[in-house]
Amino acid sequence: MKKLTKYSIGLGDRFGHQGHAQLRAIMEASNKGVEITPVWNKSNREHIIIGTQPYDVRIEADSVTTEADFKRPYFVDADHINLDSVDRFIDSSDFFTIDVASYIGKRADDAETEQFLASTSVYSGKIHIPGIDDPVRISVSGIGDIAEKYLFAAIKAGEIYRKIEKVKGAGNFVAEVSMDEVPSPQTPVELFFILKMLAGRKIPLQTIAPKFSGRFNKGVDYVGDPIQFADEFEKDLLVIDFAVKEFGLPANLKMSVHSGSDKFTLYPVIGALIAKHDKGIHLKTAGTTWLEEVIGLATAGGDALDFVKELYIKALEKREELCAPYADVIDIDPDRLPSGEEVSGWNSLKFAGSLRHVPENPEYNSDMRQLIHVGYKLAADRMDEYFRLLDTHRDVVADCVFDNIYNRHICRLFNLNS
Ligand SMILES: [Zn+2]
Repeated sequence: MKKLTKYSIGLGDRFGHQGHAQLRAIMEASNKGVEITPVWNKSNREHIIIGTQPYDVRIEADSVTTEADFKRPYFVDADHINLDSVDRFIDSSDFFTIDVASYIGKRADDAETEQFLASTSVYSGKIHIPGIDDPVRISVSGIGDIAEKYLFAAIKAGEIYRKIEKVKGAGNFVAEVSMDEVPSPQTPVELFFILKMLAGRKIPLQTIAPKFSGRFNKGVDYVGDPIQFADEFEKDLLVIDFAVKEFGLPANLKMSVHSGSDKFTLYPVIGALIAKHDKGIHLKTAGTTWLEEVIGLATAGGDALDFVKELYIKALEKREELCAPYADVIDIDPDRLPSGEEVSGWNSLKFAGSLRHVPENPEYNSDMRQLIHVGYKLAADRMDEYFRLLDTHRDVVADCVFDNIYNRHICRLFNLNS
């Protein structure tokens, strides 16, 4: 059976040039004693915007791991697929993030709902979850509300899972269910019943991606209360542990944190809690590598710096269009974006410093960073030129990618010295 190991990281590489640098970060962690499984992920949205095919990710993952003589497992994740988009991912992927966000809130039929309520009647009143001091209290109608909100989505997850299983065969892929791209977070008690529903659909779930409290904006730090997050995250870990035993889910089922890049405030919290409870984690990072390409090109100077300046100026013009598909996961204050004129006069240090996620650097500008984050379409529009620059400045870009994944992400999450 294809089994995800305790620690894994989702790596996004929009333009398919940085797999080797990402893998170098994974191998460096291994040298320091932390074994992490790399999972290359790319969503349908990214494929469409850039014009790539799911198979391109497979080719990249296979070739960089072969080149580096990497003998441990790695995966290719069909990221945020649903019933409509899954088909073209089935051959080339061995990890599927089944996204049921769009089905949340739709009602399952009465028979399904009644059956679920009957199967959960033992949990009404108090549920004792080992490790959580106060028992969780829930009424029959409380469970009914959860069913109303999530049962239909769980049924759909089962349909999508079966569709994949039919082609690939049971045990030949990793299944994740994601519910993160929704406006309101799921509480630990909701997570408990969601896992019951997914177990009821016989999905051998290895990772679950809930939505947590607070904002997980793309490419920037967490916005919210880390203490509240810690409480929720710890309860979720304990709920998963209990649900595995109670519902017979796979023993390696673990938490998946989406939009997980750059959540520097949370890494020590997450790292401490998974260590405390001896749990695994899947941390999904994606677009942050594209930002490092831009930073690397800015650092290289010359025509590479000119290219990224032009890209930023274009992004300013097309801001609304670029931001639209990401409206729920970015927060840009247009007043904090430097003008094109201003940026035209910047040197490498100033441009790279504005984008690189080092909060203590006074040049750092999270608004500009988020705008570039969603602006990758503009590089796709000038792909030949962009690829030529990436090839010319391969080493400086690779160093930025490595530094970001290894020093700013892995070291903070796993408490390693960078
Ligand atoms: Zn996600």
